[in-house]
Amino acid sequence: QAKNGGRNRYSFFERQMDEALRLRKVVEDDLRAAILADELQLHYQPQYKANGEEIVGVEALVRWPHPQHGWISPQQFIAIAEERGLIIPLGEWVLRKACEDAKRWPGLRIAVNVSPIQFRQRDFVSSVMNIIEEADIDPTRVELEVTEGVVMDDADAAEEAMMELRARGVRLALDDFGTGYSSLIYLRRFAFDKIKIDRSFLESMETTGESAILVHSVVHLGRALGLTVTAEGVETSEQHRFLQALGCHELQGYLFSKPVPAHEIDKMLGIAPDESRSGAVA
Ligand code: C2E
Ligand code: MG
Ligand code: MG
Ligand code: MG
Repeated sequence: QAKNGGRNRYSFFERQMDEALRLRKVVEDDLRAAILADELQLHYQPQYKANGEEIVGVEALVRWPHPQHGWISPQQFIAIAEERGLIIPLGEWVLRKACEDAKRWPGLRIAVNVSPIQFRQRDFVSSVMNIIEEADIDPTRVELEVTEGVVMDDADAAEEAMMELRARGVRLALDDFGTGYSSLIYLRRFAFDKIKIDRSFLESMETTGESAILVHSVVHLGRALGLTVTAEGVETSEQHRFLQALGCHELQGYLFSKPVPAHEIDKMLGIAPDESRSGAVA
Protein backbone atom coordinates (compact mmCIF):
# COMPACT_ATOMS: atom_id res chain seq x y z
CA GLN A 1 0.00 0.00 0.00
CA ALA A 2 2.74 2.40 1.04
CA LYS A 3 4.73 1.43 -2.03
CA ASN A 4 1.75 2.12 -4.22
CA GLY A 5 1.21 5.58 -2.67
CA GLY A 6 4.85 6.36 -3.21
CA ARG A 7 4.63 5.38 -6.84
CA ASN A 8 1.55 7.54 -7.36
CA ARG A 9 3.19 10.54 -5.80
CA TYR A 10 6.19 9.99 -7.96
CA SER A 11 4.18 9.80 -11.15
CA PHE A 12 2.19 12.91 -10.16
CA PHE A 13 5.49 14.76 -9.77
CA GLU A 14 6.66 13.30 -13.07
CA ARG A 15 3.53 14.47 -14.84
CA GLN A 16 4.03 17.99 -13.53
CA MET A 17 7.63 17.98 -14.68
CA ASP A 18 6.65 16.61 -18.06
CA GLU A 19 4.07 19.34 -18.46
CA ALA A 20 6.51 22.13 -17.53
CA LEU A 21 9.25 20.73 -19.75
CA ARG A 22 6.87 20.22 -22.64
CA LEU A 23 5.71 23.84 -22.42
CA ARG A 24 9.27 25.08 -22.19
CA LYS A 25 10.15 23.12 -25.31
CA VAL A 26 7.13 24.52 -27.17
CA VAL A 27 8.19 28.05 -26.24
CA GLU A 28 11.81 27.44 -27.18
CA ASP A 29 10.88 25.91 -30.52
CA ASP A 30 8.13 28.27 -31.62
CA LEU A 31 8.58 31.71 -30.06
CA ARG A 32 11.10 33.06 -32.57
CA ALA A 33 8.87 32.14 -35.51
CA ALA A 34 5.79 33.48 -33.72
CA ILE A 35 7.42 36.90 -33.29
CA LEU A 36 8.50 36.99 -36.93
CA ALA A 37 5.10 35.81 -38.17
CA ASP A 38 3.28 38.49 -36.16
CA GLU A 39 1.47 35.79 -34.18
CA LEU A 40 1.69 37.56 -30.84
CA GLN A 41 -1.11 39.86 -29.77
CA LEU A 42 -1.48 42.75 -27.40
CA HIS A 43 -4.26 43.11 -24.92
CA TYR A 44 -4.77 46.37 -23.07
CA GLN A 45 -5.80 46.93 -19.48
CA PRO A 46 -7.32 50.35 -18.78
CA GLN A 47 -5.90 52.51 -16.02
CA TYR A 48 -8.39 54.75 -14.24
CA LYS A 49 -8.46 57.89 -12.17
CA ALA A 50 -9.09 57.20 -8.49
CA ASN A 51 -12.85 57.55 -9.03
CA GLY A 52 -12.69 54.39 -11.14
CA GLU A 53 -14.63 56.03 -13.96
CA GLU A 54 -12.27 58.00 -16.17
CA ILE A 55 -9.73 56.08 -18.25
CA VAL A 56 -6.37 57.85 -18.35
CA GLY A 57 -4.23 55.20 -19.97
CA VAL A 58 -3.88 51.58 -21.01
CA GLU A 59 -1.18 49.01 -20.26
CA ALA A 60 -0.12 46.77 -23.13
CA LEU A 61 0.20 43.11 -22.11
CA VAL A 62 1.52 40.59 -24.60
CA ARG A 63 -0.47 37.45 -25.42
CA TRP A 64 0.47 34.37 -27.41
CA PRO A 65 -2.31 32.31 -28.96
CA HIS A 66 -0.36 29.20 -29.93
CA PRO A 67 -1.97 27.37 -32.87
CA GLN A 68 -1.63 23.94 -31.17
CA HIS A 69 -1.26 24.68 -27.48
CA GLY A 70 -3.71 27.50 -26.90
CA TRP A 71 -2.99 30.70 -25.00
CA ILE A 72 0.45 30.86 -23.45
CA SER A 73 0.82 33.53 -20.77
CA PRO A 74 3.71 36.02 -20.61
CA GLN A 75 4.72 34.50 -17.29
CA GLN A 76 5.47 31.35 -19.26
CA PHE A 77 7.43 32.88 -22.11
CA ILE A 78 9.01 36.24 -21.13
CA ALA A 79 11.72 34.58 -19.02
CA ILE A 80 12.56 32.17 -21.85
CA ALA A 81 12.58 35.04 -24.34
CA GLU A 82 15.08 36.76 -22.06
CA GLU A 83 17.31 33.68 -21.87
CA ARG A 84 17.23 33.16 -25.60
CA GLY A 85 17.92 36.71 -26.73
CA LEU A 86 14.39 36.95 -28.12
CA ILE A 87 13.29 39.68 -25.74
CA ILE A 88 14.85 42.34 -27.97
CA PRO A 89 12.78 41.61 -31.10
CA LEU A 90 9.77 40.82 -28.89
CA GLY A 91 10.11 44.09 -26.98
CA GLU A 92 10.45 46.10 -30.17
CA TRP A 93 7.42 44.39 -31.66
CA VAL A 94 5.38 45.18 -28.51
CA LEU A 95 6.37 48.85 -28.44
CA ARG A 96 5.76 49.32 -32.17
CA LYS A 97 2.34 47.66 -32.03
CA ALA A 98 1.32 49.53 -28.88
CA CYS A 99 2.30 52.90 -30.39
CA GLU A 100 0.35 52.10 -33.56
CA ASP A 101 -2.75 51.15 -31.60
CA ALA A 102 -2.37 54.20 -29.35
CA LYS A 103 -2.94 56.48 -32.33
CA ARG A 104 -6.60 55.53 -32.18
CA TRP A 105 -6.82 56.69 -28.58
CA PRO A 106 -5.71 60.31 -28.54
CA GLY A 107 -5.12 61.65 -25.07
CA LEU A 108 -4.58 58.23 -23.50
CA ARG A 109 -1.25 57.19 -22.11
CA ILE A 110 0.18 53.95 -23.40
CA ALA A 111 2.16 51.91 -20.86
CA VAL A 112 4.56 49.24 -22.12
CA ASN A 113 6.49 46.74 -20.01
CA VAL A 114 10.22 46.68 -20.65
CA SER A 115 12.63 43.93 -19.63
CA PRO A 116 15.87 44.86 -17.85
CA ILE A 117 17.70 43.14 -20.73
CA GLN A 118 16.20 45.57 -23.25
CA PHE A 119 17.18 48.45 -21.03
CA ARG A 120 20.78 47.29 -20.95
CA GLN A 121 21.17 47.42 -24.73
CA ARG A 122 23.49 50.21 -25.73
CA ASP A 123 21.05 51.47 -28.36
CA PHE A 124 17.93 51.09 -26.20
CA VAL A 125 17.07 54.80 -26.05
CA SER A 126 17.50 55.37 -29.79
CA SER A 127 15.53 52.22 -30.57
CA VAL A 128 12.64 53.43 -28.40
CA MET A 129 12.75 56.94 -29.87
CA ASN A 130 12.86 55.59 -33.44
CA ILE A 131 9.76 53.51 -32.87
CA ILE A 132 7.92 56.45 -31.27
CA GLU A 133 8.91 58.75 -34.14
CA GLU A 134 7.92 56.22 -36.79
CA ALA A 135 4.53 55.82 -35.17
CA ASP A 136 4.32 59.60 -34.98
CA ILE A 137 2.90 59.81 -31.50
CA ASP A 138 3.76 62.26 -28.74
CA PRO A 139 6.55 60.74 -26.58
CA THR A 140 4.89 62.14 -23.45
CA ARG A 141 2.07 59.65 -24.02
CA VAL A 142 4.48 56.73 -23.76
CA GLU A 143 5.21 55.24 -20.36
CA LEU A 144 7.78 52.48 -19.91
CA GLU A 145 7.15 50.14 -16.98
CA VAL A 146 10.32 48.73 -15.50
CA THR A 147 11.07 46.65 -12.42
CA GLU A 148 13.92 47.02 -9.97
CA GLY A 149 15.94 44.59 -12.06
CA VAL A 150 16.63 47.47 -14.43
CA VAL A 151 18.85 49.24 -11.95
CA MET A 152 20.35 46.21 -10.22
CA ASP A 153 23.27 45.38 -12.52
CA ASP A 154 24.61 48.57 -13.93
CA ALA A 155 23.04 51.43 -12.05
CA ASP A 156 25.06 54.13 -13.82
CA ALA A 157 24.07 52.98 -17.30
CA ALA A 158 20.44 52.63 -16.23
CA GLU A 159 20.46 56.09 -14.72
CA GLU A 160 21.84 57.58 -17.93
CA ALA A 161 19.29 55.84 -20.15
CA MET A 162 16.49 56.94 -17.86
CA MET A 163 17.63 60.56 -17.88
CA GLU A 164 17.81 60.53 -21.68
CA LEU A 165 14.36 59.03 -22.03
CA ARG A 166 12.88 61.55 -19.64
CA ALA A 167 14.63 64.40 -21.43
CA ARG A 168 12.75 63.30 -24.55
CA GLY A 169 9.46 63.24 -22.71
CA VAL A 170 9.04 59.49 -22.21
CA ARG A 171 7.59 58.62 -18.80
CA LEU A 172 8.94 55.94 -16.48
CA ALA A 173 7.00 53.81 -14.02
CA LEU A 174 8.46 51.51 -11.38
CA ASP A 175 6.38 48.33 -11.69
CA ASP A 176 5.67 45.78 -8.95
CA PHE A 177 6.73 48.30 -6.31
CA GLY A 178 7.37 46.73 -2.94
CA THR A 179 8.41 43.29 -4.17
CA GLY A 180 12.11 44.13 -4.44
CA TYR A 181 14.31 44.88 -1.48
CA SER A 182 15.84 48.29 -2.01
CA SER A 183 12.98 50.17 -3.56
CA LEU A 184 13.36 53.20 -1.33
CA ILE A 185 16.93 53.87 -2.42
CA TYR A 186 15.94 53.54 -6.07
CA LEU A 187 13.10 55.95 -5.67
CA ARG A 188 15.44 58.66 -4.45
CA ARG A 189 18.11 58.05 -7.06
CA PHE A 190 16.20 57.35 -10.25
CA ALA A 191 13.95 59.53 -12.28
CA PHE A 192 10.63 57.73 -12.00
CA ASP A 193 7.35 59.50 -12.67
CA LYS A 194 5.23 56.82 -11.10
CA ILE A 195 5.18 53.83 -8.80
CA LYS A 196 2.83 50.92 -9.26
CA ILE A 197 2.04 49.20 -5.98
CA ASP A 198 2.27 45.46 -6.51
CA ARG A 199 -0.99 43.59 -6.30
CA SER A 200 0.36 41.21 -3.63
CA PHE A 201 -0.14 44.06 -1.13
CA LEU A 202 -3.79 44.39 -2.03
CA GLU A 203 -4.35 40.63 -1.96
CA SER A 204 -3.46 40.40 1.71
CA MET A 205 -4.95 43.76 2.68
CA GLU A 206 -8.26 42.36 3.86
CA THR A 207 -6.69 39.60 5.90
CA THR A 208 -3.97 41.47 7.74
CA GLY A 209 -3.95 44.95 9.19
CA GLU A 210 -0.22 45.18 8.50
CA SER A 211 -0.75 45.09 4.73
CA ALA A 212 -3.19 47.97 4.91
CA ILE A 213 -0.63 49.94 6.90
CA LEU A 214 2.01 49.21 4.26
CA VAL A 215 -0.24 50.33 1.41
CA HIS A 216 -1.04 53.45 3.37
CA SER A 217 2.68 54.21 3.85
CA VAL A 218 3.56 53.58 0.22
CA VAL A 219 0.82 55.87 -1.07
CA HIS A 220 1.94 58.64 1.24
CA LEU A 221 5.61 58.12 0.44
CA GLY A 222 4.93 58.28 -3.31
CA ARG A 223 2.82 61.38 -2.95
CA ALA A 224 5.42 63.05 -0.74
CA LEU A 225 8.06 62.42 -3.41
CA GLY A 226 5.83 63.99 -6.05
CA LEU A 227 5.23 60.70 -7.87
CA THR A 228 2.03 59.42 -9.38
CA VAL A 229 0.86 56.43 -7.38
CA THR A 230 -1.00 53.61 -9.14
CA ALA A 231 -2.41 50.50 -7.49
CA GLU A 232 -2.51 47.32 -9.55
CA GLY A 233 -4.74 44.33 -9.02
CA VAL A 234 -7.75 46.15 -7.58
CA GLU A 235 -10.43 43.46 -7.38
CA THR A 236 -12.98 44.59 -4.79
CA SER A 237 -14.90 47.77 -4.14
CA GLU A 238 -13.56 47.71 -0.55
CA GLN A 239 -10.03 47.98 -1.95
CA HIS A 240 -11.18 50.73 -4.29
CA ARG A 241 -12.72 52.79 -1.49
CA PHE A 242 -9.67 52.33 0.73
CA LEU A 243 -7.21 53.37 -2.01
CA GLN A 244 -9.31 56.33 -3.08
CA ALA A 245 -9.54 57.55 0.51
CA LEU A 246 -5.76 57.27 0.88
CA GLY A 247 -5.19 59.52 -2.11
CA CYS A 248 -3.89 56.90 -4.54
CA HIS A 249 -3.94 58.63 -7.95
CA GLU A 250 -4.72 55.81 -10.37
CA LEU A 251 -6.18 52.33 -10.26
CA GLN A 252 -5.99 49.25 -12.38
CA GLY A 253 -7.55 45.85 -11.82
CA TYR A 254 -10.22 43.30 -12.60
CA LEU A 255 -12.81 45.35 -10.63
CA PHE A 256 -12.73 47.86 -13.48
CA SER A 257 -11.53 45.82 -16.44
CA LYS A 258 -9.39 42.84 -17.35
CA PRO A 259 -6.87 43.24 -20.16
CA VAL A 260 -8.91 43.26 -23.41
CA PRO A 261 -8.25 43.39 -27.17
CA ALA A 262 -7.83 46.83 -28.76
CA HIS A 263 -11.34 46.86 -30.24
CA GLU A 264 -12.80 46.55 -26.73
CA ILE A 265 -10.88 49.67 -25.73
CA ASP A 266 -12.41 51.37 -28.79
CA LYS A 267 -15.85 50.45 -27.47
CA MET A 268 -15.11 51.74 -23.98
CA LEU A 269 -14.02 55.04 -25.50
CA GLY A 270 -17.01 55.18 -27.81
CA ILE A 271 -14.91 54.90 -30.97
CA ALA A 272 -16.82 53.50 -33.95
CA PRO A 273 -15.50 50.20 -35.34
CA ASP A 274 -13.18 50.69 -38.30
CA GLU A 275 -14.22 48.23 -41.01
CA SER A 276 -10.84 48.36 -42.69
CA ARG A 277 -8.98 47.20 -39.61
CA SER A 278 -8.73 43.44 -39.54
CA GLY A 279 -9.98 41.83 -36.34
CA ALA A 280 -11.80 44.96 -35.31
CA VAL A 281 -15.28 43.77 -36.15
CA ALA A 282 -16.65 41.11 -33.85
P1 C2E B 1 2.72 43.34 -14.79
O1 C2E B 1 3.33 44.30 -15.74
O2 C2E B 1 2.88 43.64 -13.34
O3 C2E B 1 1.20 43.24 -15.23
C1 C2E B 1 0.15 43.01 -14.36
C2 C2E B 1 -0.36 41.58 -14.45
O4 C2E B 1 -1.42 41.42 -13.52
C3 C2E B 1 -0.95 41.21 -15.80
O5 C2E B 1 -0.73 39.81 -16.01
C4 C2E B 1 -2.43 41.48 -15.60
O6 C2E B 1 -3.26 40.76 -16.48
C5 C2E B 1 -2.60 41.03 -14.18
N1 C2E B 1 -3.73 41.71 -13.50
C6 C2E B 1 -4.21 42.95 -13.73
N2 C2E B 1 -5.23 43.23 -12.88
C7 C2E B 1 -5.39 42.15 -12.10
C8 C2E B 1 -6.29 41.82 -11.01
O7 C2E B 1 -7.15 42.61 -10.61
N3 C2E B 1 -6.15 40.60 -10.43
C9 C2E B 1 -5.19 39.70 -10.85
N4 C2E B 1 -5.13 38.53 -10.23
N5 C2E B 1 -4.34 39.97 -11.87
C10 C2E B 1 -4.43 41.18 -12.47
P2 C2E B 1 -0.15 39.24 -17.37
O8 C2E B 1 -0.79 39.94 -18.53
O9 C2E B 1 -0.25 37.74 -17.30
O10 C2E B 1 1.36 39.67 -17.33
C11 C2E B 1 2.23 39.17 -16.37
C12 C2E B 1 3.56 39.86 -16.39
O11 C2E B 1 4.24 39.56 -17.63
C13 C2E B 1 3.47 41.39 -16.36
O12 C2E B 1 3.33 41.85 -15.03
C14 C2E B 1 4.81 41.77 -16.96
O13 C2E B 1 5.82 41.72 -15.98
C15 C2E B 1 5.04 40.65 -17.97
N6 C2E B 1 4.69 41.15 -19.31
C16 C2E B 1 3.49 41.20 -19.93
N7 C2E B 1 3.58 41.74 -21.17
C17 C2E B 1 4.89 42.04 -21.34
C18 C2E B 1 5.65 42.62 -22.42
O14 C2E B 1 5.12 43.03 -23.46
N8 C2E B 1 7.00 42.77 -22.23
C19 C2E B 1 7.61 42.37 -21.06
N9 C2E B 1 8.96 42.52 -20.95
N10 C2E B 1 6.94 41.81 -20.03
C20 C2E B 1 5.60 41.66 -20.17
MG1 MG C 1 3.34 46.29 -15.88
MG1 MG D 1 3.08 44.89 -11.91
MG1 MG E 1 5.05 41.82 -12.96
